[in-house]
Amino acid sequence: MYWVKLLHRLQKRIRPQSFNNWFKPTHQIFEDDERVVILIPSTFFRDVIERSYADILRECAAEEGLLQKRLEFVTSDEWDARQSPGGAAGASHPGLNPLYTFENFVEGSGNSQAYAACRAVGDHPGVMYNPLFIYGGVGLGKTHLLHAIGNFVYQQSPQSTVTYVSCDALMNHLVEAYRTGSVHEMRKYYRSADILLLDDVHTLSGKERTQEELFSLFNILHQANKQIVLAADQPPSRLVNIEKRLISRFSWGLVVDIQPPELEVRIAILKKKAQLQGLDLPDSVALYIAERITGNVRLLEGSLKSLIFHASMKSEPITLELAKRALAPLAASPDAEDFSGVPGLPNTHLTIDDLARLVCNLLNVPMDDLRSSSHRPKVVLPRQIVMYLARRLLQASLTDIGRYFHKHHTTVMYSIDKISELIDENKQFKKQIDEIVEFIHKKGKSSHGLPNYP
Ligand code: ADP
Ligand code: MG
Repeated sequence: MYWVKLLHRLQKRIRPQSFNNWFKPTHQIFEDDERVVILIPSTFFRDVIERSYADILRECAAEEGLLQKRLEFVTSDEWDARQSPGGAAGASHPGLNPLYTFENFVEGSGNSQAYAACRAVGDHPGVMYNPLFIYGGVGLGKTHLLHAIGNFVYQQSPQSTVTYVSCDALMNHLVEAYRTGSVHEMRKYYRSADILLLDDVHTLSGKERTQEELFSLFNILHQANKQIVLAADQPPSRLVNIEKRLISRFSWGLVVDIQPPELEVRIAILKKKAQLQGLDLPDSVALYIAERITGNVRLLEGSLKSLIFHASMKSEPITLELAKRALAPLAASPDAEDFSGVPGLPNTHLTIDDLARLVCNLLNVPMDDLRSSSHRPKVVLPRQIVMYLARRLLQASLTDIGRYFHKHHTTVMYSIDKISELIDENKQFKKQIDEIVEFIHKKGKSSHGLPNYP
């Protein structure tokens, strides 16, 4: 096994802790002449491995006398998506998120009607409810359901044209088409849809030209019995600044709402999302989060991501105790919906130790050396970088930073100035620091790692 051989080499060359953190949980699942596919617990691993260990892995392969094969790191879910019955590897619809499927959607009393309607539409596009109009608050799964219909139809009949677009994107497309004189092509594109999934319809408000365009599109598709599915945050009757004739058409078929999920459903959603990341979320932890975030599934996911981020930073298992620490701000605010972004912002929860660990992993420096009195440049610079980041990102005090590194606070001050100077003087260095900062921010906000879907 290619990967096992590589790991044997690698184990001798990197710190046991790094090895345990990043490589122990990996498994080879596929190999041919060109590539080796390795299963990772979450996309976070791919970022770390590709950023910090790509070179050393190449060296190990060379030392071991192995052919150079491409290493591909995938989560179990990404792997499943590639193997899906849609056909060969990677056959999911390019405009749709492969994770937004009916299988990955948890049904509950708040969404059962919408779910059933979407399944019916998926089974018999253009026949049952046309159009289907789904409305409900932010983060309740409307977009997920639209994609699920699209993914389903595309899998059942890959030859059918599934078109997903948000009304914002539709407007931009129209503006662009005017600018480049390609309105005709644009119309042709949308009018060739067998199933049109139109998201965030409320954003059409006041956009007269786009509404007009949509009006003719709607008529053409509807007359040809092509399925139209719409999603918005309001029912048709409460949409504002949208033409009456359009609104009346929105209610021609079936209008269903989505209500926030009850506790059991929130728990089930959390467990499902964790499972998609290859994690088994303890019941106590799922309950802890689900009790605190009530209205918005996106926030629910955000806290889970933040928790996973924490656990991987500290290489700890996910326990109730860790959840309480990681999600402390939630506990302080039972009405977590108003706490916009808190679960996603890692900086508020990170410690100097977390930063040090991250920088050590990224720059491949042993943690113990960082906190030693070593004056080797290979150690001094990363140590100063951590001091700088602790100040900038965590607003840690000079005294606290000093205590962590067993250094006097004037040394810390000097180090921070030093890094600031380097950043000012050296573009390359600045870029490196920016990358580290961006990495920290990004990892807190999303561990999803998927490309952006339109
Ligand atoms: P909306 O479009 O209604 O604002 P989304 O479809 O973007 O909401 O959902 C936000 C997130 O919550 C997505 O990641 C989605 O997968 C997830 N989600 C919402 N409802 C459910 C559910 N019932 N089961 C599984 N995931 C859900
Ligand atoms: Mg949406």
